Amino acid sequence: MIHRHCSFCDAQESDENPLIAGNGVYICKNCVFSAYKIMFGDEEETKESNAHLLEAVGELMTPKELDNFLGQYIIGQERARKLLSVAVYNHYKRIFKTEDVKEDDTEIAKSNVLLIGPTGSGKTLLAQTIARVLNVPIAISDATSLTEAGYVGEDVENILTRLLQAADGDIQRAQQGIVFIDEVDKISRMSENRSITRDVSGEGVQQALLKIIEGAMVNIPPKGGRKHPNQEFTQIDTSGILFICGGAFDGLNEILKRKQGKNVLGFGHDKKTKEEIKTTFDAVEPDDLVHYGLIPELVGRLPIIASLNEIKEEDMVRILTEPKNSLVRQYKKLFAIDKVELTFEDDALLAIAKKAIDRKTGARGLRAILEENMIDIMYELPEYSGYEVVITKDVIENGEKPVYIKKTEQKTA
Ligand code: ADP
Repeated sequence: MIHRHCSFCDAQESDENPLIAGNGVYICKNCVFSAYKIMFGDEEETKESNAHLLEAVGELMTPKELDNFLGQYIIGQERARKLLSVAVYNHYKRIFKTEDVKEDDTEIAKSNVLLIGPTGSGKTLLAQTIARVLNVPIAISDATSLTEAGYVGEDVENILTRLLQAADGDIQRAQQGIVFIDEVDKISRMSENRSITRDVSGEGVQQALLKIIEGAMVNIPPKGGRKHPNQEFTQIDTSGILFICGGAFDGLNEILKRKQGKNVLGFGHDKKTKEEIKTTFDAVEPDDLVHYGLIPELVGRLPIIASLNEIKEEDMVRILTEPKNSLVRQYKKLFAIDKVELTFEDDALLAIAKKAIDRKTGARGLRAILEENMIDIMYELPEYSGYEVVITKDVIENGEKPVYIKKTEQKTA
């Protein structure tokens, strides 16, 4: 029997790798496959990644489902969660589902979101969690590091470079991703944080930001860095990118109150005004943001405004314990690996919450407080295998040792 061989890779003909005969030449199945990949591979992969994305968002989780998912990770902030869920639902509907309704040429405007809330109240977490549920890439940037081209700092386009990197270089995927820009309030015209090295009026950065948010083709340096003339650019279409901006907007409530004609000067008003902040922030209108110093064009591109509340003591405790990957759960798991059971007394959790509130960094402070208190305990942890470690209020408040209880019964898993 004659053994025929592939003219490309010299593989011998077999049942698994049959040959196709040409004019005096043969090609095996493996080589056909490789050739196809070489010729059409990228196209196919793009189709695949699109199909994958469509699977994740194309079925379009309903706003309720999105909200429920967010609720597993984000404590409180119900109104913001709801608004974001609807905005995200509409956004992806606009990208994926408009082909289904061809009757008219109404164009659905983009539903970019502005999250207003104090530091550590969950703005970034909301954006991150929504990107996770949708399985889309996300780039997180800080507006204070951005500059108008030509000034000291980072070019606005670099945000998109970062998004492209988060999408592993897949332009298609990047074009359907999420960009979160924090601290947009700091680039407002009136912001004290404005730096003269960045731009003189603060407006330049806003204009630059506007350009990418508007939904246009933007040239980006694929590897980041400053633009320079001989560089190759990648084009990104930002019309399908969801922009979520965040900021604390300190002082905005003063604008709101002035608008409502309320005089907050005088004594004995503090308690009342704090209560009012909550309600008034929900009533923020685009005009108020313009008043604050954002340019009207940028405000116009952020039609959904959601406010987040400052995190109170009881929510701090919930944040410590309830979310799927809460800090307490993480520590328990870490301890369990050393066969140590970790318990926090309710008073201890409350003490941690109080410390976090004192630090005024929102829920962000919780991790640092726990780390500070757990470091000595974890240093000795392997020696306490088979024990229960109880964290009391005194551990948190006075740096005392926790209570160690020897477990007599070895529980079987
Ligand atoms: P910011 O509002 O400043 O963007 P982040 O979202 O970065 O705040 O919050 C910092 C950290 O605090 C988060 O990673 C998360 O662990 C915790 N956190 C803040 N707010 C919440 C919340 N509402 N629910 C659960 N965790 C929260």
